[in-house]
Amino acid sequence: MPQNSSRAVGRHFLQIPGPTPLPDRVLRAMDTPIIDHRGPEFAKLAKRCLDGIKTIFKTSNPVIIYTATGTGAWEAALVNTLSAGDRVLMVETGQFATLWKVMAQKLGLRPEFISGDWRTGADAAKIEDYLRKEPIRKAIDAAGHPALLMVDTISSLASTDYRHDEWGVDVTIGGAQKGLMLPPGMSFNAISDKALAAAKSSKLPKSFWAWDEMLTMNKIGFFPYTPATQMLQGLAVSIEMLHEEGLDNVFARHARLAEATRRAVRAWGLEILCRDPKYYSPTVTAVLLPDGHDADAFRNLALDAFNISYGASFGPYAKRYFRIGHLGDVNDGWQVGALASTEMALGLAGIPHKKGGVQAAMDYIVAAHSGGARAAAE
Ligand SMILES: *Cc1c(COP(=O)(O)O)cnc(C)c1O
Repeated sequence: MPQNSSRAVGRHFLQIPGPTPLPDRVLRAMDTPIIDHRGPEFAKLAKRCLDGIKTIFKTSNPVIIYTATGTGAWEAALVNTLSAGDRVLMVETGQFATLWKVMAQKLGLRPEFISGDWRTGADAAKIEDYLRKEPIRKAIDAAGHPALLMVDTISSLASTDYRHDEWGVDVTIGGAQKGLMLPPGMSFNAISDKALAAAKSSKLPKSFWAWDEMLTMNKIGFFPYTPATQMLQGLAVSIEMLHEEGLDNVFARHARLAEATRRAVRAWGLEILCRDPKYYSPTVTAVLLPDGHDADAFRNLALDAFNISYGASFGPYAKRYFRIGHLGDVNDGWQVGALASTEMALGLAGIPHKKGGVQAAMDYIVAAHSGGARAAAE
């Protein structure tokens, strides 16, 4: 924004990979009087949420809803199923994997960390060295191993296909502030029968996170302590919106915006941080800047000039990349606008790049839509 102005005009381009922009409909659903969380109206709301969230995780088992960010749901997953000294196999895919490992250590668990360079995903072949055969679930079963499979889907749930039951996951950790298009402050544990059984013998101390009390109270439509009523009002509506669009359409939209963004980055002649297309994220693209250019300075300049925020950088590549989010309530035109702002910001910052990224993104989006139209007509 100009230096002599204190107002940023228009909508902020919140291109961080969560929290994501809130749809007006979710905002309005939350802008309602507080209801009694022990009353009959609440029980109806809780039922909508507790039943609805199962369709998002694709599970017929209960899903626990916590008033906490994703980190709380990580802790819940660990303390409900494990005991001091238990070993946890983890893969160093990036920042969050590293934080989760540190948490496991703090809780008195023994993480075994398969190291990585932050530029690829979890490699089943490397896990095979530990657990014999891929894919991961099969490896665990084939080894006759009592291990539980836990998956952090905070940045992917409700943005790309995910099937808790079918894929044999024991605890799935989710968060509200990404694909679910809600404010931060709510997170989830979807749990398998095996995880429930493990909870019976788990010895790590737990109170707030304990699944058993939650499950008992949830059965009658209530929570053991004051639930985040307004977040639940929003959640009921966000689940409704996802189904109105159709989950498969939600996933296709995220895949399309992700590919359009990558095409823009390549057309600019810049490098995508992720080395292997197999591990590309449908929700965020990290862009490496040429040597000698500070990504934090670039983000600040883009924010000032074009009212756009990108995800920050961490770890071994800190200050060398910025992340463009493409998740949540984002459509084609919005993402193209974000890419146009980015192309302008690259120009303004004097970062060497080629023009035509926005055009490449638009060409891809048009082709994706006309392919879809043709397929529908056939
Ligand atoms: C965003 C994100 C988190 C965030 O955890 P919070 O406690 O909600 O900040 C954790 N894991 C992954 C994979 C994420 O993308």
